[in-house]
Order: sequence, then structure tokens, then C-alpha cells
Amino acid sequence: MAFEGLSERLQKAFSGLRRKGKVSESDIRDAMREIRLALLEADVNFDVVKTFIKNVRTKALGAEVLESLTPSQQIIKIVNDELVKTMGEAAVPLNKAPHIPTVIMMAGLQGAGKTTTVGKLSKYLMDNDSARPLLIAADVYRPAAIDQLQTIGKQLNVPVFEMGTDVDPVEIVRQGLATAKENKNDYVLIDTAGRLQIDEKLMNELKNIKELAHPNDILLVDDAMTGQAAVDVAKGFNEQLDITGVVLTKLDGDTRGGAALSIRAVTGKPIKFIGQGEKMDALDVFYPDRMANRILGMGDMLTLIDKAQKNYDEKQAMEMAEKIRENSFDFNDFLDQMDQISKMGPLEDIMKMIPGMANNKALANVKMDPKDIAHMKAIVYSMTPQEREDPDLLNPSRRRRLAAGSGRPVVEVNRMIKQFNQSKQMMNQMSKGNMKGLDGLMGG
Ligand code: GDP
Repeated sequence: MAFEGLSERLQKAFSGLRRKGKVSESDIRDAMREIRLALLEADVNFDVVKTFIKNVRTKALGAEVLESLTPSQQIIKIVNDELVKTMGEAAVPLNKAPHIPTVIMMAGLQGAGKTTTVGKLSKYLMDNDSARPLLIAADVYRPAAIDQLQTIGKQLNVPVFEMGTDVDPVEIVRQGLATAKENKNDYVLIDTAGRLQIDEKLMNELKNIKELAHPNDILLVDDAMTGQAAVDVAKGFNEQLDITGVVLTKLDGDTRGGAALSIRAVTGKPIKFIGQGEKMDALDVFYPDRMANRILGMGDMLTLIDKAQKNYDEKQAMEMAEKIRENSFDFNDFLDQMDQISKMGPLEDIMKMIPGMANNKALANVKMDPKDIAHMKAIVYSMTPQEREDPDLLNPSRRRRLAAGSGRPVVEVNRMIKQFNQSKQMMNQMSKGNMKGLDGLMGG
């Protein structure tokens, strides 16, 4: 799987931090060194790595992280945000022409996946924009390219315009565009010739096609498996053709991921799509945030951190943590905590976001719908202030009184007290074991 090595190395850097309760500047420097090596090993461009590390370090050494109770989570968040930024923040859609047809010119080296991607993109447009595309076969140097495009056209039921291999590609494009206008095709996808490497003749031909067709998008189809070379190719094509975006192919393969992380930063041009397989539906819009999640191997953990940060009052959290450490967490805190958790949304959803949580047997029994929370609160409200602060006072006769006071059966009172004790114990372990408990839950 792509990014596997990078994911593993980054996880290692974070777990070094996770083992500590609080982190020092030197811990952060160690982690930065690990992250830097991880990126370089993943074939990320050297300058990109330099900027990346500089930005992450500045933020990570900020007071919020050093004073935070959850420094490793904060740093994961900072790294994630920087990954997203490096890859360009938001997905960049295709440009659309004010009048039909929208013209998309595809360029790239031989074998990058250009012809395949023309097919995939036409399918994408048909599925998502009810498009009626026309494909133009302008790769006249590789005879098989035209056959290949026709096969794809048949498979997808998309018309292919071709004039064989003896006509100048610019002329083919001219006539192809005229045909598209006649037939009122709303999209035209031009499959151009590739070479083994960038050469002047190819670039001149592509420039001529560009001048004639005024494409709304010039997409470079670039092979992620080639790592740094893919970045150089993107740089070369962009300098010559001023491309509007990149389709990064073969991300399903065993690529180290460097190209995905470097192209935007090096060329200033967005990756618009990624290819993740040979089949016609294996094309996806490139979302920098989702890619960052994938690289960090965190699933939706980051959404959870985000939610927790938005809803958690840091001061209150500090006090809570202090109580957990002193083992003086009581039923008043339990009430507060339930309020905090309910603010984050349905508990099942929160649980599902934590990697490994779905398989956690201990937690499978924790059911908490809003009604349960209301019942638990009713039971706590029936306690005397002394009982709330000292749950050990809750002997069987007091429990019967709570049941009567809250209108809940005694078994439920018992279950809640048991749950309270369990979670108290778990939190206490986590705080002592420096998050080890949570690591276990997270399958780490
Ligand atoms: P072109 O010379 O650039 O037109 O390249 P082709 O479209 O002929 O693709 C070259 C090879 O790469 C073919 O075997 C494709 O099936 C394969 N290919 C293209 N895109 C992808 C992709 O995203 N993933 C994988 N695994 N293979 C791909």
C-alpha cells in the first residue's frame, strides 16, 4: 500500500511522544528529527521537507503544546495540518468553460497512464456531471494508443475521434473540436502523445495543440511510482506548458508517497485527481485532508481530536486530569464529563472514530443513548453531596434509596456505579501509564 513506510515512521515518532505525560523541547526536537527522516525516506522533495519541518517545529514549540496535557495529540494535529497545507488545503475542481465544450488536454510521459486516465476521467464526468464527452486520439506515435483509446471508448460507450497516425496531431485536434461542436459534446478530452522523457519536439507539439484548443484544463498525468522523478516531470511540463493540474496515477501501488507530498509545493499546481487502479472507476478527486489522514494512518482520529478540542474546556480538562491523577474523581466530575461527552455527539459515533475501538470488547458493552445519560444523571442527582464525593459510601441500602429517588431499578443503579468505578480505574491507569492504556485501546 502507498505511504505504508511513511505512516509507520510517523507513528513511531508520535509514539515516542505519547509515552510521555508532558514533553520537553528536546523531546520535540527528537520527534522532529524522526519526522524529517520519515519524509526524506518517503522521497519527499528536500526543500519541501525543510519548509515542512520548520513550520511544524515553530508550532510544536509553542506554549500550547508544551503546557498541554496531550502534547502528542497536539503534535499529530500540527503535522496533519502541515501535511494538508503542503498538499494544497482544499480539493481543486476542474475548470469549466462558459460555453460547451469544456476542453481538457491530457499530457504526460509514456506509460504514466495517460490513455487510461482519459477513459477514467470521461467516466467520472459522465457519472458526476451527466457529461457527453468526446475523446480525441492525438497520440499518433504509438499506434497502439489509438486502439487502446477506442477500446476504452467502446467499453464506456463514449465516442472517439481519430484520424489514424498519418495526420498532424494539431490537425486532428482541430477537426476533433469541430466534430464536438457539431455533435454538441459538452466535454472534449484530448489524449496527446507521450515520450520516454521530456524532449523539445514533444513540447512544441503540445504547445501547438494548446494554442489551437485553448484547453480549460491541461492535466499532467504523472506516475506516483517514480517518486522524485514524478516531481521533476511535473516541474518540466509546468515550465513549458503552464499546466493547470496533475493527475497522480498508481497510488494503489507500492509508492513511498513523496510525489503526492511534493508536487503542489514544488510546482504551485494542484493535484486534481488520483489514480488508484487499472479499472475505469479507479479515479478519485484528490482531497489533501483525506490524503493527510491516510498518510498519518489515523482514520478519523483527527476529527475526534478536533471535536474534543472544540468542545473541551481546557481549564476544566486540567482540573479533571488532576483529579484523575489524585484518584479523587467523583460523581460530580462524572456528571460534568457526561455533559462534555454529550456535546461531542452520539457516543457510538465517537467510539467508531477511534482506530481499533470497534473491536474493543470492553467497550462493546458500553451503550449510551441520550436516555441512558438522563437516567444516570437522575441517579447521581439522588445522591447526597457526601455520596457524590465519596462513592464508597454507597452501600446496598443507600443504593436502594437511589433507585427509589431516581425511579430506576436497583440493577441499573448497581450497573452505573460499576461503570463509574471501571472508567475511573481506566482513566487512572491511563494517567499513570502515560497514555499506555489509550495506546492499547487504539490498537497501538
Ligand atoms: P500512457 O502511455 O501514459 O497512455 O499509459 P497507459 O494509459 O497505457 O497506462 C500504462 C499502464 O499503467 C497500463 O497498464 C495501465 O493499466 C496502468 N495504469 C494506469 N493508471 C493506473 C493506476 O492508477 N494504477 C495502476 N495500478 N495502474 C495504472
